[in-house]
Amino acid sequence: MIGCPKNLNIHSRRIMTDKFKVIVAGAGPGGCIFARDLATAGFDVTVFEKGDYETIGHNWSDAMERSALEATGFPAPFEGAVNTGPLVKSTDAEGNPTGIYEQHAYPYMEVWAPDYSSRKAVNFRYVTTDRRALGKLLVDQARQAGAQVMFHHEVVDVLLSGGNSLGDVEVTGVVVKDIETGETQSIQADIVADDTGFHAVLRTKLPASTGIADKFSDDEFGMVHRTVRKRNKNAIDPVADHYRYGYQTGYQWIQYLNEDEIDTGAGVRHDPKSPNPKDIVEEFISRHPSISDEIIRGGGGLCLVGRSPASLVAKGFVVIGDAAAQTIPMTGCGAGGAMMGGKFAAEAVISAASKGKNDCEALWEYNRKWFVDSRRGANYAALTALRNILQDLTHDDISFLFRKDILSDAMLTDSINGLFTLPDLPTMAKTLAGGITRPSLLLKLNAATTAGTKIFKHYLAYPKTWDAAQFAAWKLKTDRLFAATISKKAAA
Ligand SMILES: Cc1cc2nc3c(=O)[nH]c(=O)nc-3n(C[C@H](O)[C@H](O)[C@H](O)COP(=O)(O)OP(=O)(O)OC[C@H]3O[C@@H](n4cnc5c(N)ncnc54)[C@H](O)[C@@H]3O)c2cc1C
Repeated sequence: MIGCPKNLNIHSRRIMTDKFKVIVAGAGPGGCIFARDLATAGFDVTVFEKGDYETIGHNWSDAMERSALEATGFPAPFEGAVNTGPLVKSTDAEGNPTGIYEQHAYPYMEVWAPDYSSRKAVNFRYVTTDRRALGKLLVDQARQAGAQVMFHHEVVDVLLSGGNSLGDVEVTGVVVKDIETGETQSIQADIVADDTGFHAVLRTKLPASTGIADKFSDDEFGMVHRTVRKRNKNAIDPVADHYRYGYQTGYQWIQYLNEDEIDTGAGVRHDPKSPNPKDIVEEFISRHPSISDEIIRGGGGLCLVGRSPASLVAKGFVVIGDAAAQTIPMTGCGAGGAMMGGKFAAEAVISAASKGKNDCEALWEYNRKWFVDSRRGANYAALTALRNILQDLTHDDISFLFRKDILSDAMLTDSINGLFTLPDLPTMAKTLAGGITRPSLLLKLNAATTAGTKIFKHYLAYPKTWDAAQFAAWKLKTDRLFAATISKKAAA
């Protein structure tokens, strides 16, 4: 399935039937699942990807949510001493590499305090997945389902009609540039999906008055660096897989990929005052002789930890993945969220098409699935509030919370897995007793939990159907709730 089909099969005129014509910008995990599921349902789907099949995805392996992989058709491996199962990396009879999952298993992850004074055992519901191998598999699946995937094609603009508000604007197609020839053409479609990553190339070209066109701001990003190194098996260095949570405003990790390879990295807040994550990684490597100088792969860059636009749909339009901030705010893990976003968006489009409609009302189901039914949007929003208020805690404060078990196994398990923990009485009592010697820290924790709870409940009250007035009121309250988390941080 490598290369581009010769015949573009692009219609110049749209014909609305119960099987829409669909264009997807970007062949990331979210866009591919969306394209695959719609093509499987018989829709006419074309994906435009500016990159290349051979270099799709990242040149490293990511921690991906087991539940998202399974929900989108990729059975997670069985975690024994090592991962086993049909999708675990291996070689075939001809010696070619197969599989997408790394061999090393870690049902529990040690999570350390920044000063190493205490550690927790987190039920880490992730599987380390080779993003390049997965990226190719996703493209292959979309093609096998009948979608056309056009590499070296950049979507440079959206075609709009109607008014400027969310209910009035209509996305009617895209302008695509063939990167090899430089030619551009306008193509119409019933549904356009933006899966262009955190630049959200199409969403940010909608009229500002839709309320969903904002670019992500600098403080909605982390800066990440990771390197995969050959393991030095002769070294006496009993370092195990672990995360160091809250270190330098972010986190730092080491995890084995298999017997021979170690992945280590760090992420920090995207801020000129933050240290360079590469320096953090180098310092860590200098203390661990089991990590050799031999670099196998790796990379890094900006990693989105921001919040979703208030609606993921407009007429003729859906936004998926990083473009929709479907990432876990505590870690920046977004590949699983993108795949779930692609799945939910496809389900909503299929149901809208069965009514012969592509407007906000018909596509609203996607918003409801993301924010309310799956609770992903509600959880991520509440965790964003926590992060806004707590991200300035010192190493000393975070380490104190670890030692007092206020940051407990259960609480860290939830937040690392993208779940907001609603406070219960025993936890509140333990927090009060444990934190009594640090009243200002207790106040900050209380502010964060209260804001998170309010925001979580507010998201569960997301409008049931598209209604311009209800949506405007909901969005106004959302913006106020988040503004309060920023001012609480500034006041702290
Ligand atoms: C260093 C780092 C580490 C990370 N670690 C993890 C991790 O461990 N676990 C995890 O789950 N997530 C991780 N993430 C985040 C994860 O990579 C993203 O959340 C995820 O890839 C988002 O998927 P997506 O569907 O939005 O598409 P993306 O992966 O963002 O891909 C977007 C695609 O759109 C294409 N494109 C962009 N603009 C255009 C255009 N105008 N026209 C056509 N094509 C276009 C791009 O070439 C790209 O292929 C990490 C990110 C970084 C940077």
